[in-house]
Amino acid sequence: MLSGLMMEYPLTLNAIIEHASRMTPRKTIKTKLPDGRWHEYSYAEFHLRVRRLGNALAQLGVEPGDRVATFAWNNYQHLELYFGIPCAGAVIHTLNIRLSPDQLKYIIDHAEDKIIFVDGTLLPLIEPIADQLSTVRHFVLFNATAEQAGNLPNALRYEELMAAASDDYNWRCADENMALGLCYTSGTTGLPKGVLYSHRSMMLHTLGVLQAAALGPTEADVVLPVVPQFHAMAWGLPYAAAWVGASIVMPGPHLQPPPLADMIESERVTIAAGVPTIWNGLYHELRKNPRDISSITQLVVGGSAMPRGLIEAYERDFGVNVVQAWGMTEMSPIGSVAKLQSRHQSLDAAGRWDIKAKQGYFVPGVDARIVDDEGVELPWDGETMGELQVRGYWVARQYFKRAADVEHFTSDGWFRTGDVVTIDRDGYMTITDRTKDLVKSGGEWISSVDLENALISHPDVLEAAVIAVADERWGERPLAIVVPLAGEPDPEALNGYLLERFPKFWLPDRYVIVDEIPKTGVGKMDKKVLRQWRADGKLDPPSPGPFPQNEGRVGN
Ligand code: AMP
Repeated sequence: MLSGLMMEYPLTLNAIIEHASRMTPRKTIKTKLPDGRWHEYSYAEFHLRVRRLGNALAQLGVEPGDRVATFAWNNYQHLELYFGIPCAGAVIHTLNIRLSPDQLKYIIDHAEDKIIFVDGTLLPLIEPIADQLSTVRHFVLFNATAEQAGNLPNALRYEELMAAASDDYNWRCADENMALGLCYTSGTTGLPKGVLYSHRSMMLHTLGVLQAAALGPTEADVVLPVVPQFHAMAWGLPYAAAWVGASIVMPGPHLQPPPLADMIESERVTIAAGVPTIWNGLYHELRKNPRDISSITQLVVGGSAMPRGLIEAYERDFGVNVVQAWGMTEMSPIGSVAKLQSRHQSLDAAGRWDIKAKQGYFVPGVDARIVDDEGVELPWDGETMGELQVRGYWVARQYFKRAADVEHFTSDGWFRTGDVVTIDRDGYMTITDRTKDLVKSGGEWISSVDLENALISHPDVLEAAVIAVADERWGERPLAIVVPLAGEPDPEALNGYLLERFPKFWLPDRYVIVDEIPKTGVGKMDKKVLRQWRADGKLDPPSPGPFPQNEGRVGN
């Protein structure tokens, strides 16, 4: 073989921050603080603070490969950690603030986190487990008062560490194959699985996001990641925006429709990204209290399917272009984007909305195929449904501390997405179903299997199945179908029982009592039949459910 003679310049994260601080030092990063005021600084100041953070981490004894967790909203401190931790050779583990204390404890133990950086506004969520975390040596607090810090063992204050650290720092991430980040995703069986990104995969993903065929932000953009930084690295937007020197606006904890609408208007945001629940809420807010959101060129939506009606409503009522993207934590996460191609320009509005309602075409860097149950490849004809499998520069090859199991990874090198899709002749993919037994509510996963296992351990329940039902606001909500052991179980008591184990938003909105749950030939609960029953109206409760709809919902 004749080798090429080009540099092996490493794909490491420090390249982004160095480039940004040289090319666009005066561009700004703004954060809406918990008290509603704005914090603003330049990329030059940001760069300096990331270097300080590198020294602060070294003083805390952080070594390359150590896992360092964050428990925070989207803000400038979290952005500093996004760069500072990986550039110090350590692994940023973004903890999902919506998890229950038990789930958090499992994940922190599994990751063996050494330090957790905690947003003071979220202290009550981590305090209950703080003294049960055997691997954690320190909690480092920001946005917290002095009294708050007192409640955590070994608590340090972020600003004090930063003030004491020098900004003369040498990055410790020379090897592009070093791990950069760790993000856990829900498993059907309930045990979350860790996806371990490398510098190389994240840099290539960032270049992928920067393609015009994907989201393609430029220096002229003002980027608002509403998608949390703990959700698949905020879809890669912080890294992509920083590399090109786009202005970044971080919403902090202000994720309700009115402050989001105000933020988009006042900051002249051009690219905003979030799950459909967010944009549904914003739409209704804007109808009630109009704001000028005409600055938006891409309202990016992913995580769950964006209803076609909402895509249409945004364009019709506000002239806003909705861009649907599909991805997975295992894919860093961008897989496909539903942008129009040149031949679609002649379509009428309805034709364009049809395309935008698809999950999109695969961005360069992602390879895809659909297969049947036997693994035989299926045609891209827009009709044949099969399981979507992917591979590419930023796709996981196995989970953290687990062997590459056949349930998720094929022997010929593909990742099994668990999404059932059609792909048309133009390469546009449409999700039609899921093989994974999960419910997605407001962008967050709920494990139906976990709920079922908990329900059947209740003394009044013989059998239980949980299925996802479509919900206008949250995308999906769980519906529980229960066979009682004797008498009629009290839904309120069942939900009280579940609340001991799961976050509030996991609780089923409704319970339906049946005599028997349909089974497949091998005796498994047949959820296809249950879904059909539901579609046929057989599972409709006699009256509105016992719970106000979406009680305990997530807020993002
Ligand atoms: P997560 O790893 O939490 O990001 O979840 C990934 C899963 O979310 C995918 O496998 C899909 O089932 C679902 N998903 C992501 N984006 C979309 C979308 N645009 N439309 C429908 N489902 C989506």
